[in-house]
Amino acid sequence: MADLPNYAFFEGKIVPYSEAKVSVLTHALNYGTAAFGGIRAYWNESEKQLFIFRTADHYRRFLNSTKLLLMELGHSVESLTETTIELLRTENYHCDVYIRPLAYKADEGIGVKLHGLRDALSIVSFPYTRMIANDTNGHITISSWRRVDDNMIPARGKISGAYANSAAAKSDAVRAGFDEAIVLNQDGHISEGSAMNFFIVKDGVLITPPSTDNILEGITRRTVIELARQEMGMKVEERPLDRTEVYLADEMFLTGTAAQISAATRIDYRTVGSGAMGPVVSRLRILFDEAVRGNLPQYRCWNTPVYV
Ligand code: PMP
Repeated sequence: MADLPNYAFFEGKIVPYSEAKVSVLTHALNYGTAAFGGIRAYWNESEKQLFIFRTADHYRRFLNSTKLLLMELGHSVESLTETTIELLRTENYHCDVYIRPLAYKADEGIGVKLHGLRDALSIVSFPYTRMIANDTNGHITISSWRRVDDNMIPARGKISGAYANSAAAKSDAVRAGFDEAIVLNQDGHISEGSAMNFFIVKDGVLITPPSTDNILEGITRRTVIELARQEMGMKVEERPLDRTEVYLADEMFLTGTAAQISAATRIDYRTVGSGAMGPVVSRLRILFDEAVRGNLPQYRCWNTPVYV
């Protein structure tokens, strides 16, 4: 388990974490009517600075998720960023951090609906390094669970209730001895991992499912696409991906704020590519690590400094 936070932004102000509590009747807890974000801040030792990664992109997606749930938070990208900076300064972190904003239907009482309820916001953060134990040669499986569809719970929103689907896929995969699950759409195409986007490399082309295939539009995914195009001159295709294209890929990997860039080398007992982490994912991991810590001047706009 990660270290617990010392503070939380809760009911409009920063309070000790132990005071940030909700009731068992909270609407979101009962019906999954919440949306969340997952953001990281990275410590840069030489600059003695903490950089939040792509804050505006994360909070734009967060606000879009709240819109899908008919929420009115009364917050903007700017005010959410300011609040996050204030929280991280209060914690006084000098290490890598994970940030979890949560917008939730806060009413206590029963009644399944989205409208006419009070919307609340919390933000917490905690020290964090890596989520995936094996991030260099994972063994993944195609899940028997299917991805939630846009007409069920829209996957482009990071909606809490939908994570029962992700959790089912992840637990079945891990309990069967795999590192991660890949879920297919209703039409049988690859969608994504339990909480990561998915890429393959084939004949020098980077291929990933499009935003219309029930994926969360990952910020790490977007970053990888930009780095591959700009820094590696690669062709990138966002298009439907068949299961057997993955079996025959040269490389495959997963991307996410928690997962970072994690290479997988086997899928359902089939070796992909050489069976070792490939050159494209290796290079992307190095570029990504430099970018998030503020070491690439051309991407410095992605790094929000916490300290003055
Ligand atoms: N898909 C899902 C379902 C996720 O929960 C996440 C993690 N937020 C991702 C993809 C990756 O998105 P990001 O790179 O923005 O963290």
